[in-house]
Amino acid sequence: MAEEAEKEVTTFEDFKLNRQLLNAIEEAGYEKPTPIQLKAIPIIMGGHDVMGIAQTGTGKTAAFLLPILMKVKYAQGNNPRAIILAPTRELAMQIEENITLLGKYTDLRHTVIYGGLGPKTQIEALNKGIDILVATPKRLMELYLKGELILKEVKTLVLDEADKMMDMGFMPQIRQLLEILPRKRQNLLFSATMHPKVVELSEEFLEFPTRIEVTPQATPVETVSQVLYQVPNLRTKIAMLEHLIRDKETFNRVIIFTRSKKNAEDVAKFLERREYGEVRAIHGNKGQNTRINSMEAFKGGDVRFLVATDVASRGIDVTMVSHVINFDVPFVYEDYVHRIGRTGRAENSGAAITFANPAEIFHIRKIEKLIRMQIPEEPMPAEIKIYETPFDEQQAIARDIDHQKRSENPDFKGAFHEKKGRHKSNFEKGKKSGDPKNSFWQKTKKKGSRRK
Ligand code: AMP
Repeated sequence: MAEEAEKEVTTFEDFKLNRQLLNAIEEAGYEKPTPIQLKAIPIIMGGHDVMGIAQTGTGKTAAFLLPILMKVKYAQGNNPRAIILAPTRELAMQIEENITLLGKYTDLRHTVIYGGLGPKTQIEALNKGIDILVATPKRLMELYLKGELILKEVKTLVLDEADKMMDMGFMPQIRQLLEILPRKRQNLLFSATMHPKVVELSEEFLEFPTRIEVTPQATPVETVSQVLYQVPNLRTKIAMLEHLIRDKETFNRVIIFTRSKKNAEDVAKFLERREYGEVRAIHGNKGQNTRINSMEAFKGGDVRFLVATDVASRGIDVTMVSHVINFDVPFVYEDYVHRIGRTGRAENSGAAITFANPAEIFHIRKIEKLIRMQIPEEPMPAEIKIYETPFDEQQAIARDIDHQKRSENPDFKGAFHEKKGRHKSNFEKGKKSGDPKNSFWQKTKKKGSRRK
């Protein structure tokens, strides 16, 4: 099995991206490509037009950005060579943040332009010379018509969230733009749905596109029963986990998924300290051999708990896993399907249990859309003590929720105003929200120091 896995194209190195990009990917904490990235990157790098049906959360932004960063390569001239159009200011800003993140070790110049404020600063940024431009359609046309933008060197055009652009009535600006741009260019269209207007647009705009879709196959296996608990914070999640696994007979072979390597390590250490059974942790920081050994021990039945990040989730082929526990909700929504697919393999029935704090509920709703079903919810068992959420964690959760509201409605004014240009990506925030500074983990270190 291990040999088979090695033959597949599964790593970012396999895409033949340059070192600058690979280093940035590593620093961003992306351990392996998501399904849309696996499918789209080689095709886009091959120069083809693409129609991608993918929702936010699938990793679609990096799927189109990485090939663009490869193609545009280094700073040259003054005018943009790639344009990425997004329907909202918030999405445009997020895309630009991703360029900052992934283009960190390149000298590429990029900026984002959008409406709702005077264009002066944006014009100044454009005048400094630019390689990649992210824009909302109206502002782009406005600055072009003012003579502030030269578009004759554009070689790649991306329309992101095309369905939303159609809903928001941007078709006239897009048509206008298509008239202006050089004809010889690569076109990429991404949309969450196959809205008839999107199909119409794609027919006008794409040349022999390759269609890439990541949603339909994401249906959970029928043998897995799912349950969701709304758990307010990290400390209560631990109490809940402990409550469940006390039942050794039922929870006999359990995989616990966390979003970050740190949470994986911390959960594993916690279980070890409490002596609930043999534990192994597998994540990106563990060498290949250690991972294989851990997996073998788990398969063999000597190990009761495997704590894993998503990087490990696809390679696990173990039958008789009694439970998958999602200690954190994954932000790459497809990972939910991969995670729960680890139980209920080979006709054995399995159970997937998910803990979600108030900020993670937002992602649960998106996952439910993706899997086209509602995850049955149960109240927390009465005997579980609900701990108060510590201040830092409360702040992290509130900030997360604000961010989500803003991403759905750019005009939303939340309690937290992050500094301009410092909107954190979900990924960065994910690391923080599960990792409050006054670490609860520290407090559980000594066996005697059981919580009050
Ligand atoms: P998107 O669908 O582009 O909005 O991406 C959703 C989230 O997944 C973002 O926070 C990205 O930073 C993150 N992400 C993208 N690609 C990967 C990857 N290969 N591994 C882990 N996280 C990723």
